[in-house]
Amino acid sequence: MKILFISSEVDGLVKTGGLADVAYALPKALQAMGHDVRIVMPAYLVIKDLWEDWPAQSIQSKISHFNTVNVTARLGKHESLPIVAIEHAESFERAGIYDDGQFAYPDNVYRFGIISKSALDWCQQNDWQPDIVHTNDWQSALACFYLAEHLGNEPFFKDTRSVLSIHNGAYQMQCDTSWLANVGVDERFCRPDDFEDGGHVNILKGALGFADGVTTVSPGYASELVTPMGGHGLDFKYRNLAEPLIGILNGCDYDQWNPETDPWIAENYTSIDDPGKAHCKQALQKELKLDVDPSIPLLGSICRLVDQKGIHLLIPVILRLMQRHDCQFVMLGSGDETLANQLSYIQRQYPHRFHFVKGYDAGLSHRIEAGLDAFLMPSIFEPCGLNQIYSLRYGTVPLVREVGGLQDTVSRLSQSQRNLKTATGFMFQALTEEALLDETERLLDVYKNKPSQWRSIQKNGMQKRFSWKKSAVEYERFYRRLLKNEKVQHPLLHQV
Ligand code: ADP
Repeated sequence: MKILFISSEVDGLVKTGGLADVAYALPKALQAMGHDVRIVMPAYLVIKDLWEDWPAQSIQSKISHFNTVNVTARLGKHESLPIVAIEHAESFERAGIYDDGQFAYPDNVYRFGIISKSALDWCQQNDWQPDIVHTNDWQSALACFYLAEHLGNEPFFKDTRSVLSIHNGAYQMQCDTSWLANVGVDERFCRPDDFEDGGHVNILKGALGFADGVTTVSPGYASELVTPMGGHGLDFKYRNLAEPLIGILNGCDYDQWNPETDPWIAENYTSIDDPGKAHCKQALQKELKLDVDPSIPLLGSICRLVDQKGIHLLIPVILRLMQRHDCQFVMLGSGDETLANQLSYIQRQYPHRFHFVKGYDAGLSHRIEAGLDAFLMPSIFEPCGLNQIYSLRYGTVPLVREVGGLQDTVSRLSQSQRNLKTATGFMFQALTEEALLDETERLLDVYKNKPSQWRSIQKNGMQKRFSWKKSAVEYERFYRRLLKNEKVQHPLLHQV
């Protein structure tokens, strides 16, 4: 199959979250299965050194009746993956990806609309007829609309099917209705069944109705999206798709996340019996100026500092842990300044037991995964989550909230502890400080008082594999199903 993958981030080039991991690993896995995959992404300023040497091709992208945008497609490679970087200086030669460090760029819908349309124009201009156009989150979702609406009668795309993958359903791109004309969405679509949402425009909401197939990144999250509690206000859209929403669990890129070969960590190790794991803990304690002590439990977390990650629960719980228990805690993250200040405050109170690193640091994230005893993820919602999967591979026991992809990837140690042969971590349900604290104290009890049980949980986790190959086979099956289907015709179909 020819698969056009459109993404605003690709790991190794530009990354702010898990979308980047998927946009690198899934195309790689599909390519390994023999598919012809191209990744379209913006030619961001931060990677200009890379793409400015790539061969250039001018493309005229007709976004709407009155707006044709001239872009340059730069064809290059990231490892084995062919990349089409869309150069549009006005939109992408800026310091940030989505924001200026404080505020989202006000023209984001237009910036990513350009990418979504020019990706399709690139195909036509190069006579590269995709079987599947795989879009990701709101940033590329408009490509599904353009395929159905602007290009619905184009023979070139008659056999092409569109897929929209939801990596985080909370980000929907709500903007003023005046933007619709700029991105070529006729005002007839500004109605509650399509893009209109409480007097504003909602790009994800509208685009969902035009995708031939919609997926999300775990079965657990798929079952939440269709409910009023878990659908981020779009549950009715997810329930009424042309093809039922499916959840395909993300894999893990074990070329990057493997303690046996990881170049970032103090010492490689193959099992928890290997002294390497303890050396990694010691090295992390040293690096972050904590007391170097092998017996003290070292907990931690890595995440964007946003409400979704349950930081408002975690911060008071860290404080209570510091007061009540002999344990250490490490936190790496960037985002909300107020949350960052609260974490810095805890560090000032407990400098030898708590360390917060503000910022984004890929190398440190590997050393934390290897050095911790336990990794905490008390997310309010979590489409898939990657760090708990990495933790399992590194013999670092995850403690997660029972939600989304976290519940699909971690097996909770039951109260009776009868499932010791299969348990890989700890889990709590209620979104309260007490519930998180109780489960963390349960974890600390097992760590301190039941070392053989702790080791079983570590061992079970290290044996788990979430292969991208398996996920890619599921995507391939889904693509084939869509290709067999008749193309969905939208009742308001018109041509630009
Ligand atoms: P999300 O996509 O919601 O941010 P995921 O768990 O799916 O959450 O993916 C987050 C990815 O970003 C993981 O690979 C994680 O290690 C990485 N990450 C998040 N914050 C940081 C940070 N401050 N430094 C390094 N890596 C980070």
